[in-house]
Amino acid sequence: MDKLNDSYLKECLQNSGCKITGPRKAVLQILEKYPDNHLSIDEIYEAVKKSYPKMGLATVYRTLALLENIGIVCKLDLDDGFSRYELYNPNETHRHHHLICSSCGSVSEVEEDLLDTLEKQILQKNKFLVKDHRVKFYGICEKCRA
Ligand SMILES: [Zn+2]
Ligand SMILES: [Zn+2]
Repeated sequence: MDKLNDSYLKECLQNSGCKITGPRKAVLQILEKYPDNHLSIDEIYEAVKKSYPKMGLATVYRTLALLENIGIVCKLDLDDGFSRYELYNPNETHRHHHLICSSCGSVSEVEEDLLDTLEKQILQKNKFLVKDHRVKFYGICEKCRA
């Protein structure tokens, strides 16, 4: 595990009283390897099987639930009928936005927040302090528009 630093993960796991086990590391490595793919449980399972042939689907489920619980992994609902997962980025002050192509189903990300003005208005008008948000945009991607 290179890019995602090992000590951060160790700390997260240990803070929650968990050990870094083979399956946990394998699942995290897959999520790290495909950062833009927003993999479903089945896709993670297929990828993990290559390095862990004995790992069952139930273990993948349990591992993802645990990692989500302790905040290393985020579960995404991109309205395609699958639960998808991505690594939580500790350097992100807000959740990035997702762009979902209704033609090919591809998912891309917007890193800029762009919502400061909206959040300020909400605070003023609704007296509600926004701490985070999950934004999904639906439309047609560049490839499909060509
Ligand atoms: Zn598309
Ligand atoms: Zn994402």
